[in-house]
Amino acid sequence: MKIYDEHVHLRAHSDEPEAHNLRPFLQVAQKRQIAISIKEHGPLPKKYQRGPRGDFYFAMAPEELVPFLDQFIDTAVPVGLELDYFADAEDEVREIAGNFLAQAQQRRLKIGALNGSVHLLPLDLNSDTDDPDIVMWDDKEESFAKYCDLCGIDRIIEEYHKALCGLVKMQLFDVVSHVDLLRKFDRIDVHGKSFYLNGHETFYQEAIFDVLQQAGENGIAVELNTQGIDRPYGRPFLTPQAIKFCREKKIRLTFASDAHKPETIGRHFAIAGEMFAAAGVEKLTCFRERKPHFYDFR
Ligand SMILES: [Zn+2]
Ligand SMILES: [Zn+2]
Repeated sequence: MKIYDEHVHLRAHSDEPEAHNLRPFLQVAQKRQIAISIKEHGPLPKKYQRGPRGDFYFAMAPEELVPFLDQFIDTAVPVGLELDYFADAEDEVREIAGNFLAQAQQRRLKIGALNGSVHLLPLDLNSDTDDPDIVMWDDKEESFAKYCDLCGIDRIIEEYHKALCGLVKMQLFDVVSHVDLLRKFDRIDVHGKSFYLNGHETFYQEAIFDVLQQAGENGIAVELNTQGIDRPYGRPFLTPQAIKFCREKKIRLTFASDAHKPETIGRHFAIAGEMFAAAGVEKLTCFRERKPHFYDFR
């Protein structure tokens, strides 16, 4: 059995990020016999190129794309991007994806897939509602708690749902990443009560299942992202019920560690595998040249 880790980054987040470096990730992947597919945070639309590097403190600075891609020349590693969705910059997101694909093809690289994510939401209450400011709510728990106080969890769920639906409907992406990321800082107590979603669980679950339904209708795969296990949430970003729903609706599923360090490649695959098996999933999906391939994970 081979592990296909469909979501790996080439550097950790940091105030002064290092250059993307494929080599150490390749070494660990080869040693552990894990097939990795790189999904690096891509450049942002111009309007959102904030901060001194234009990376909004987490993404790829525009000038980093070429050196990032050049590292893949003469390797067989599938390269792809994790791109952020912005409702008011869909055309530019398409351009960023198109430019990435064209540059990868020029270099004859092996392409994996394009993942779509929502890490930023228009939540700033002080801004003009016609042109709301975008905020990063998933960097620190203080930020998430602040926006919960400012906007209320229902508004955050609504915006998150709206953004994920917009992403899926663009029909640009092959995979929607970590649909449960909104629960990154959530905790569930011994009575099963959620810290942030208590009393709003049904509203949240309906929003998430609507996204899954629309992903299915638009032929977009959904990932089980094990990063959530190492967060306060303590479980993967995709619930057993959601996996079952995907199986029933024939929505393709991928495994994603979302590793940002070589040593976390393939992390928690055993837990993911058990969840998939318990939900009756028979095959998982990996993407090569943006086409789905199915493999037996058991
Ligand atoms: Zn992400
Ligand atoms: Zn990621």
